[in-house]
Amino acid sequence: KLPDPGIALVKERLSSVKNKVLILSGKGGVGKSTVTSLISRGLAAENINRNVAVLDIDICGPSQPRVLGALGEQVHQSASGWSPVFVEENLSLMSIGFLLNDVNDAVIWRGPKKNGMIRQFLSEVDWGTLDYLILDTPPGTSDEHLSATTYLKEAGITGAIIVTTPQEVALLDVRKEIDFCRKVKIPILGVVENMSSFVCPKCKNSAEIFPALTGGAKKMSEELNVEFLGSLPLDPYLARCCDEGKNILEEFPESPTVKALHSLVNKIIE
Ligand code: ADP
Repeated sequence: KLPDPGIALVKERLSSVKNKVLILSGKGGVGKSTVTSLISRGLAAENINRNVAVLDIDICGPSQPRVLGALGEQVHQSASGWSPVFVEENLSLMSIGFLLNDVNDAVIWRGPKKNGMIRQFLSEVDWGTLDYLILDTPPGTSDEHLSATTYLKEAGITGAIIVTTPQEVALLDVRKEIDFCRKVKIPILGVVENMSSFVCPKCKNSAEIFPALTGGAKKMSEELNVEFLGSLPLDPYLARCCDEGKNILEEFPESPTVKALHSLVNKIIE
């Protein structure tokens, strides 16, 4: 089998990117895109001040343009490649969403075409010098994950962060994600539990929404010998900020989400 010429291009382009991180989830709807945007905003925030870019390879359902507030933006081609869209001075985004004529267009592609698109994103976007390139992936383990993993392993992947909710159905699928990472030999940076509790904005009391029969993501992480990075609450302010593409760190800096995010980000940069 001939070597993929794209690998050399990806390696060269990503040589100025220190950390390459995949965000994974077993199930859809557990908040993977939300957590991707939060972690990215957290790493780019003033107190941490890293250079961050998000690559949205959820080809069939790109949601980063909305959650990062870049809907309707366009990417431009320059001599040094595609320019990503800058959401903040040190936070940029590339998404297939920018290349669609209409946000409601459906992308129905087979594996090789998805692979080509991912290779192009990794080798032809002018990422600049980055501390973190964070990849938002589709749920499960499919073509996109295999393509991204193949290229990123060549360029030196930092690892994967797995997002889950406390529900048993979601936790079951996390085990599959962990198994995937171990099979393809990518380090697991840790597990994030999203929507773990609900803090009432009125009375400030905290309630568990999903009963975690087996002790939730923390216990599962211990059992499976992976790091538990922390929990994020179910937060109506967060849902609103994401729908409106706003930055919760600026809009609601005192919210339980932002407090939880600080400790999560600190664990990631450790
Ligand atoms: P996924 O990427 O896993 O499919 P999303 O990040 O798109 O999931 O989240 C699904 C929905 O749940 C979105 O409407 C999002 O705003 C909401 N959501 C995700 N996490 C939270 C949270 N911690 N608190 C409130 N709403 C959330």
